[in-house]
Amino acid sequence: MDLREKIRVIEDFPKKGISFKDITTLLKDGDDFRYVIDKIVEIVKEKEVDIVVGPEARGFVLGAPAAYSLGVGFVPVRKPGKLPADTLKFEYSLEYGNDALEIHKDAIKPGQRVLIVDDLLATGGTISAVAKLVEQLGGVVASMVFVVELTGLNGREKLEGYDVESLVQYE
Ligand code: IMP
Repeated sequence: MDLREKIRVIEDFPKKGISFKDITTLLKDGDDFRYVIDKIVEIVKEKEVDIVVGPEARGFVLGAPAAYSLGVGFVPVRKPGKLPADTLKFEYSLEYGNDALEIHKDAIKPGQRVLIVDDLLATGGTISAVAKLVEQLGGVVASMVFVVELTGLNGREKLEGYDVESLVQYE
């Protein structure tokens, strides 16, 4: 299946100059959605994943069904103030300003092998923050899987040392 045909590209969203990859066109088709989740599961099947972590919001949509299919649990990573129990926070810088993500402190047990799933790898800032949270809780990042990788932004360089996989790449 050529996922490029299924992903809608919107120019100048959310800002001028950005070519936004919109996966909602893929998600609304049952066969396409199943194909993507099955692919993610196939990629990690030898990686002894104990638990799946996904950042809000599209990481939930992809990570939860992947976890279900693998027969393991799912852990959400969210923007500050959304998770109700004790959280660990990681702050990171963006092109303009700062952002932060949180995880429940009791979400991962030391030594658990974690699959991180998100829709898209751009600069790698978001997923690095997720990996830091996982590692601060003692988890081991077994793999990072994305539907889309924007290769021109060199996210992979920032993620050196991790197993990084993507289903479709754009320059
Ligand atoms: P990064 O932190 O620069 O790697 O950006 C990745 C994050 O931004 C992911 O959580 C994506 O959901 C979001 N993102 C960035 N660009 C796009 C896009 O073109 N389509 C969908 N999401 C995007």
